[in-house]
Amino acid sequence: MSKRENLLYRLAEVVAGGDGIKVIKCLIDNGSMRDDELALALGLKPNVVRRILYQFAENSIVTVQRFRDEKTGWYYFKWMVQPDQVELYLEDQRRKLLRRLKERLQYEKSHEFYSCPKGCLRLTFEEAVEKNFTCSGCGASLQYDDNKKVISRLEVKIRELSEERH
Ligand SMILES: [Zn+2]
Repeated sequence: MSKRENLLYRLAEVVAGGDGIKVIKCLIDNGSMRDDELALALGLKPNVVRRILYQFAENSIVTVQRFRDEKTGWYYFKWMVQPDQVELYLEDQRRKLLRRLKERLQYEKSHEFYSCPKGCLRLTFEEAVEKNFTCSGCGASLQYDDNKKVISRLEVKIRELSEERH
């Protein structure tokens, strides 16, 4: 499975859960399909499939095209994956996450932390002073919390995300 497909499945799952992944996989395998064909192929109820497709359409994951049946004169719709939009969405998500991680890194670098040895809480130095270096959860003494590891984990993650362009 390509990295892009993998991201697409992850996105499908976030939007519509496990059935969402099945729908996307079916569309990738078959190119474009009608909603009733999808329902039949996947053994899902047509209204379930339609709801998933609408959710995908709202998030620009799929697009729909209208066709006319020559014999009956009726219109029908075919759904397909819209890869460009998916990549734009993923790129947007990546940027947002990167921004949050950089803010967090800045916060970690500019503060000293104290935490409860039993894991109840973690406070900045200023907050710990206010609490008299005592845990408000269990009464234990707060201890200096070296955040070098937190910082290096954040830096690794930021570097990975910075290199991951679509
Ligand atoms: Zn505690």
